[in-house]
Amino acid sequence: EELISQIAAGEVVERPASVVRELVDNALDAGATQVTLRLLAGGVRLISVEDDGAGIPFEELPIALKRHATSKIGNLADLESVGTMGFRGEALAAINSIADCALLSRAAGQSSAYFLDGRTGELKPAARAAGTTVEVKELFFSVPARRKFLKTDATEQAHCVEAVRRHALARPDVGFAIWAEGRLVEQWRACGSDDAARTRRLGDVLGSDFIAQSIAVDYRAGSVRVSGRAGIPDAARARADQQFCYVNGRFVRDKVLTHAARSAYEDVLHGQRQPVYALYVEIDPARVDVNVHPTKIEVRFRDSREVHQAVRHAVENALAAPRA
Ligand code: ADP
Ligand code: MG
Repeated sequence: EELISQIAAGEVVERPASVVRELVDNALDAGATQVTLRLLAGGVRLISVEDDGAGIPFEELPIALKRHATSKIGNLADLESVGTMGFRGEALAAINSIADCALLSRAAGQSSAYFLDGRTGELKPAARAAGTTVEVKELFFSVPARRKFLKTDATEQAHCVEAVRRHALARPDVGFAIWAEGRLVEQWRACGSDDAARTRRLGDVLGSDFIAQSIAVDYRAGSVRVSGRAGIPDAARARADQQFCYVNGRFVRDKVLTHAARSAYEDVLHGQRQPVYALYVEIDPARVDVNVHPTKIEVRFRDSREVHQAVRHAVENALAAPRA
């Protein structure tokens, strides 16, 4: 059981940022409106994610750390239409097998919070407002081989921030704060959930010059909607990791999408660099598979040509439109 968990952990957890992604997924699944991340030593010494979501009833706290414990999927059919970020019920168990985990949670309507020490199993009452704090300490302490492959604290911290950034761009209705070594390094306030809120969040996260140097994307073809903003290429700003693609609110890395966007830039602007962009694809969930890889970053479209064309046209239309 321990070994299985550690193997699973190897798939899910490459570095501190993988833990951050899973914990923030869980906070958002729980309906949080505010998520606070705290890091020490790039996340290796401490990753703490605090939320104001639904919380975990105390009798479920020990279960939450067990393999295949998920409260999010009742049967196989649910897999088809899964709307939550996490649904494999493995993340916390995997993380708990390679780090010292602690849960502090108070379920809505419960009169007390409870603290669970994942190593000793000790469960005791504690104080906290409704919501959950997950603390992960000494990541990879039992997997020295993994620990050796980590980069500097600064680099690991940057990856952790990037993981939150990806969530933040999808959820302008949620506030995010990131503390590192006791200092506030990023703060993005909740600002609503409409298109204007999303534009505002894009400016907060990517910089206000991104808004000035980008064009709104808004396109619909059949059942596919593509929205967001396409950056105007600027050699000084071009960075390989500043292309954000979302499918039904989930951050993805997908060749179909990036190829479609690149084709549009080549057609309209004959540019060679990948400019900054954030594209949000909305599609019937039955037309996309999300359960292809433990990291959940990849998707498989039932009809990738349809999606490719939609994204390509969406970006082409935006880039070709006369600018105000
Ligand atoms: P999954 O997210 O795939 O269900 P996890 O291992 O990530 O599996 O989490 C296990 C369970 O613990 C979740 O299904 C959920 O019930 C509970 N849980 C974890 N984090 C939180 C949180 N921040 N708020 C509320 N419940 C949580
Ligand atoms: Mg999860």
